[in-house]
Amino acid sequence: MATMTAMECRTAHAGLTGVERELPAPGPGEVLVEVAACGVCRTDLHVLDGEIPARYPVVPGHEIVGRVAALGEGVDQLALGDRVGVPWLGRTCGACRYCREGRENLCDAPLFTGATRDGGYATHTIADAAFCFALPEALDDSTAAPLLCAGLIGWRAYRMAGEARRLGLYGFGAAAHLLAQVAIHQAREVFAFTRAGDAGGQAFARSLGCAWAGGSDETPPAELDAAILFAPVGALVPVALRAVGKGGRVVCAGIHMSEIPAFAYADLWGERGIVSVANLTRADGVEFLALAGEIGLRPTVTAFPLTDADEAIVRVRNGTLDGTAVLVPDIAKRNA
Ligand SMILES: [Zn+2]
Ligand SMILES: [Zn+2]
Repeated sequence: MATMTAMECRTAHAGLTGVERELPAPGPGEVLVEVAACGVCRTDLHVLDGEIPARYPVVPGHEIVGRVAALGEGVDQLALGDRVGVPWLGRTCGACRYCREGRENLCDAPLFTGATRDGGYATHTIADAAFCFALPEALDDSTAAPLLCAGLIGWRAYRMAGEARRLGLYGFGAAAHLLAQVAIHQAREVFAFTRAGDAGGQAFARSLGCAWAGGSDETPPAELDAAILFAPVGALVPVALRAVGKGGRVVCAGIHMSEIPAFAYADLWGERGIVSVANLTRADGVEFLALAGEIGLRPTVTAFPLTDADEAIVRVRNGTLDGTAVLVPDIAKRNA
């Protein structure tokens, strides 16, 4: 029997358990992907912590780079050995009004990779061929992984922020470090907000070209045109509203956030707006991945063996690494 290894979350708060499973066969329209690298996203923490809907037991991970190892019936757009990226949006129904209107990110009956279907904290995973992306060739497997959520969701949030000349990014982790590069490439000024006192994170932001970096408790030196919140901290919503000027937007990019405290209507007045960003469309992916290749986006990654997923998660939770943690199943082989 051919087998695969996976790090499985049996239920909320149960952490991860290494398991051996029979290698699954792809169904119609699906492919079996041999995982080369899988990024660790904050959303995975929300799955582990039971803060968002998930189907347990589940294998987390939705920033998957791998190669097609088997083709299901009817798959003609991919071939064996093709390198693919598997994102959070694993499948949509294609029939609800959101799907029909080209807003598949809002689908009523989707499958989300690493939450409601198994993801990439594994040596292998199953994905829908129609939801896999081609990846920029210049990036190796580990480096390409963070583009698939941090990059993509960041991109969708960035577009929702509009034509902001001065852009604030609250929470300078995986997504913000990519988005800052895009914004700076487009000659915008980026203001990076980290946890209070995180001198290392602020230095990292400045090294990428941010105009200013400080704690989220600090007032930026200039009025912002828009702010994107990547930190899952609801208390930052009114803080960000007060940092943006009239007509400014506050975009909440995370899937989960602590409660937003009450704030004065005066903070919203002046046509300021608050909006959330949900998931991605395949069109977002095609657009962003082309841009990433074009501008030579360089994710900063720290690789961990798959079996050290717990350590990677702790590092992401504590914000003690720059950029993104990436799990690499055969890291020993790769380093040899
Ligand atoms: Zn739908
Ligand atoms: Zn994600």
